Amino acid sequence: MARDKSSQATVNSSVMPPPYPGEYPKIVVPPPGPQAKALIERDRRVVSQNLTRDYDLAVKRASGMVVEDLDGNRFLDFAAGISTVSTGHCHPAVVKAVQEQAEELIHICYTDFHYAPYVDLCEMLAESAPMSGGKRVFLTNSGAEAVETAIKLARMRTGRQKVIAFYGAFHGRTLGTVTLTASKPVQRLHCGPLLPEVYHTHYCYCYRCPVNREPDTCDVQCMDLLTDSMFHHTIPPQEVAAVLVEPIQGEGGFIPPHPEFLPRLQKLCRDNGILLIADEVQCGMGRTGKLFASEHFGLDPDMFILAKGIASGMPISAVIARDDVMKWNDGSHGSTFGGNPLSCRAALATLELLRGGLTENAGRVGTRLIEKLRGLMDKHPLIGDVRGLGLMIGIEVVRDRSTREPATAEREQVIVKAFEKGLLTLPCGKSTIRLSPPLICTDEDADKALKILDEAFLEVRPA
Ligand SMILES: *Cc1c(COP(=O)(O)O)cnc(C)c1O
Repeated sequence: MARDKSSQATVNSSVMPPPYPGEYPKIVVPPPGPQAKALIERDRRVVSQNLTRDYDLAVKRASGMVVEDLDGNRFLDFAAGISTVSTGHCHPAVVKAVQEQAEELIHICYTDFHYAPYVDLCEMLAESAPMSGGKRVFLTNSGAEAVETAIKLARMRTGRQKVIAFYGAFHGRTLGTVTLTASKPVQRLHCGPLLPEVYHTHYCYCYRCPVNREPDTCDVQCMDLLTDSMFHHTIPPQEVAAVLVEPIQGEGGFIPPHPEFLPRLQKLCRDNGILLIADEVQCGMGRTGKLFASEHFGLDPDMFILAKGIASGMPISAVIARDDVMKWNDGSHGSTFGGNPLSCRAALATLELLRGGLTENAGRVGTRLIEKLRGLMDKHPLIGDVRGLGLMIGIEVVRDRSTREPATAEREQVIVKAFEKGLLTLPCGKSTIRLSPPLICTDEDADKALKILDEAFLEVRPA
């Protein structure tokens, strides 16, 4: 196999898994094959019918960058279980940590007792988080549970009730978090009343600027919607407990904001005694080339929320808060499974790999891939925008570059064609293709993905 010397030189080989023993991607039966179809038939009879899939993938096993389906097809994974399998599938170091822990202690409940992996992980997270002053950590099971925890803490700590979030945001699907999520109306249809005192304003989405600025005339006027409209007319800032923001919007379309957006938001919060909560569930854990996406913007929030990529696929999430913020009444919060020993050990192994070179690899491979994807724009008028940081890359698909009309159907076709050719991707936003491979992705993997996307775009014509 031809290997790019530069990638070999910069990645510490001890953090990379052993090479995959075989060719990939490799399609042997057009997916879904007979085994996949049989499983999906059983699913249709017994599983809640509301789950929607972009294509029919039924997985048997996975290793590193490769996912194998029930019929023996091998896919190159640029979805990573929604940005979750940060160190690749079943990284030997993560598997070993979980196996060792399973033989020693599986559950005892940290809300009642103590064990070392929980403290080890909290220490490592507190030490890694780019946040000034002392830090404390609370461990939970999912992104939504961590968001619930952060909002509950923000309200209890400030004695204020109002919370501000952004259009396009994704913070979870529980009754509380779906109120903060402003992604798709179907997620909240008929399930109200929702959490009271939650307000949304526009995110800094420069390709579709909410205040119609172009880069050369922009002074982050989208912030005025918060200061001059909301705070001026309807929302007294002294009643706002927290602003909840994704430093790079994920589900909303993989949108890095203008470099000034987050620093200004932070100043606004500080000036008004509002807690700034950075939801790094999707953009955190090394994906952008820094351990925390906030580091790209010099952000120093009052709380971080982590989940997805933190433990390479084991369920765990965390709220990291400044010492003086994480002060609430004894017994006011808890979690039976939160920070279970297996997930803690998986997270510790993951963090070691991320800090040992995978974060850096994500930055380097991602920067090169973004450049190459931009190169495809000359060939494919459907590509309206390529954006991202590190291995958090969005390709926005449009019918017409001058009107920027979203090409939702064409986006779906490209994703399905890529799947049929052996590449797993996911959609996000109205018409964006999300690329979020494991952070072990090499330049060769990136080139394979690029080639498949190029072929897929060639086969899709604007409607
Ligand atoms: C996925 C996601 C969540 C919710 O996580 P779950 O584990 O699905 O509850 C919250 N915030 C962001 C930014 C996410 O991407």
